[in-house]
Amino acid sequence: MSILPHLTGFSRPELDEFLAKLGEPRYRSDQVFRGLHQRRLQSFVEMTDLPKALRERLCETATASVLSVESKYVSTDGTRRFLMKTNDGYPVETVYIPTENRDTICFSSQSGCPMKCDFCLTAKLGLLRNLTTGEIVEQVIAVLNDVYGVGENTPHGTNLVAMGAGEPFLNFENLIKAVEIMSDENGLFIVPGRITVSTAGIVPKIYDFANLERRPNLAISLSAPTDELRNVLMPINKRWKLDDLMQAAKAFEKTLKRGERFTFEYVLLGGVNDSIEHARALAALLVKHDLRRVKINLIPHNPAEPLDYHPPDLDQVIAFKNALELLGVSAYVRTPRGRDIYAACGQLAAKAG
Ligand code: SAH
Repeated sequence: MSILPHLTGFSRPELDEFLAKLGEPRYRSDQVFRGLHQRRLQSFVEMTDLPKALRERLCETATASVLSVESKYVSTDGTRRFLMKTNDGYPVETVYIPTENRDTICFSSQSGCPMKCDFCLTAKLGLLRNLTTGEIVEQVIAVLNDVYGVGENTPHGTNLVAMGAGEPFLNFENLIKAVEIMSDENGLFIVPGRITVSTAGIVPKIYDFANLERRPNLAISLSAPTDELRNVLMPINKRWKLDDLMQAAKAFEKTLKRGERFTFEYVLLGGVNDSIEHARALAALLVKHDLRRVKINLIPHNPAEPLDYHPPDLDQVIAFKNALELLGVSAYVRTPRGRDIYAACGQLAAKAG
């Protein structure tokens, strides 16, 4: 296992300092940053604009890659699931989702996940470990390189969602630093407005997130309108009840600036949380907390072998959406992508099939 510093996870000032210590001028730091993030090079050897001696020095003292792509699965709908490994052997999953106008890359913030949501396959792994800033950024680099080739432009821009394995708000600092690095105009240049972070509801971190000056969009996974049901489906609810969560959501909503998006995710589980009564209770919860303008993404459950849940019939999904809309709540049904290769929401569990 390499214990060399992974420069892909270094902020601009950190990279400046690292190269200064090697006795290099500031513009070398710019070149290395562009090499790593704009040209998406995963080795210093390829940075041929640097003097050979510096390339050799970098190879000895640092690394530009800590992830290896172990397998790639391609769905009939074009979605690709990448099963990567950290250099200490932990699984990392990343999903590439092409759409007509823009690509989306869904990256992981942790290897495994500690959240124990009853309907999610990743939960079965438990938490393996937090990913480093560099591991978060390199997932995106590795996927773009696979799709477009090293150094090639991305033809129609990229959206990012922190909706892979893990709970981003339990790896807050590394995540926020990764967002900052990825948004740099001399690098990947994926601005925070193109990034969405999803949380299962780590309430204190929602307040911290609300205080950030420059931040991605936020999604909160709700999936139940009552404490009784949410305690069962998402045990994190026992730590922070719905009222606490919705108060934090309201506080966050008040800080929204123009163009920023805020959504709730609601996984629809057939016969469990998908009745008209549940839709009414959900609308009532939003009204109670004065959050009726926040949009709801309805995600029909993606089934997986050991999970005791199944998606509702399409009729029921539509009825649920209509019930919400009748009560003035905007709801969108999300089309599942990559279900056949275990790439859809809640299906990431380092499966080889
Ligand atoms: N831990 C964060 C990030 C994961 S995002 C969070 O919970 O928000 C993954 C999204 O997929 C969450 O909204 C989650 O509720 C949803 N999800 C989990 N398992 C699912 C499944 N089997 N089918 C559909 N959606 C699922």
